[in-house]
Amino acid sequence: MLVHADTDKQTGIRLSVVVPFYNEEQNVGEIYRRLKSALDGMEYELIFVDDGSSDGTYPALREIRENDREKVKIIRLRRNFGQTAALRAGFDKARGEVIVTLDGDLQNDPGDIPGLLKKMEEGYDLVSGWRRKRADPLFSRRIPSFLANRLISLLTGVRLHDFGCTLKAYRREIIKQIDLYGEMHRLIPVLASWMGARIAEMEVSHQRRLSGRSKYSLSRTLTVVLDLIALKFFLSYSTRPIHIFGFWGLVCLGLSLIAGAILIFMKLYRGVDMTGNPFLFITIMLVIVGFQFIVLGLLGEVGVRTYYESQKKSIYLVREELEGD
Ligand code: UDP
Ligand code: MG
Repeated sequence: MLVHADTDKQTGIRLSVVVPFYNEEQNVGEIYRRLKSALDGMEYELIFVDDGSSDGTYPALREIRENDREKVKIIRLRRNFGQTAALRAGFDKARGEVIVTLDGDLQNDPGDIPGLLKKMEEGYDLVSGWRRKRADPLFSRRIPSFLANRLISLLTGVRLHDFGCTLKAYRREIIKQIDLYGEMHRLIPVLASWMGARIAEMEVSHQRRLSGRSKYSLSRTLTVVLDLIALKFFLSYSTRPIHIFGFWGLVCLGLSLIAGAILIFMKLYRGVDMTGNPFLFITIMLVIVGFQFIVLGLLGEVGVRTYYESQKKSIYLVREELEGD
């Protein structure tokens, strides 16, 4: 018997397309039309998430749904929770075997979706778009994002050119198991890869933003880097914080022994006064810091156990199980 790790009932819908909108009233109608024509003849649902827009986005979405109740679902968040939360809301609702996300500002092209799906059929769990010819400003966007992408690849070992591209396709069982916090939707491939997902990249087209305004500024790159640090720590050490903190604790204590030995040597054989000797302060500092690190590691262990056990979280993930007859 073959038991899938994802026990959700089969729904028959092959594709869910999730689009987040925050003040995109001029773009809603056009993106809907382009999605319709790109997906013509397929079994799909469109999940439009209104992330607390204050313009005419919601009425525009309502009007679309009035004429296409079968395909269009709308989720309206109470306030602006941010793109990551909006995507998560869409994922929670999605029933398709494959979930595709794209921006609601017409910068991504729905015409790329069939290509992504084709790539998925080669056996991938996640196909990420690569805006190779990216139509965004050079200094405020392309350069910082190039550096951020390189840094993410370097730190996580996940080799992608363009983490920030919203146009991606995911197998549902993968995305359903991923917890998203902060601005982490850009780092989903990292989380997915950690889960053992097979990841591919595909070039997609990208247009300049014609209407509405971008919701992000340069500081976004910094939040991505901070998210990355948090994630890196979490992926590598979330089940064993004592290993990282304890390691540095032991290093500090080891160095303190050396510094202390030098101090005593200088006192006994060179007659140097201990009181004014920098090695005294170095020794004391290292002892304190070393113990602090170890205690932090132990506290981390307590936190981790609470985290996993209170939520019955598993420290492993199963792709499939074979047993019985
Ligand atoms: N978005 C959102 N909530 C937010 C910010 C953005 O749902 O708080 C949506 C936005 O409407 C757009 C997509 O996320 O559909 C990408 O945003 P944007 O185009 O501003 O990002 P950029 O292309 O400039 O990186
Ligand atoms: Mg955009």
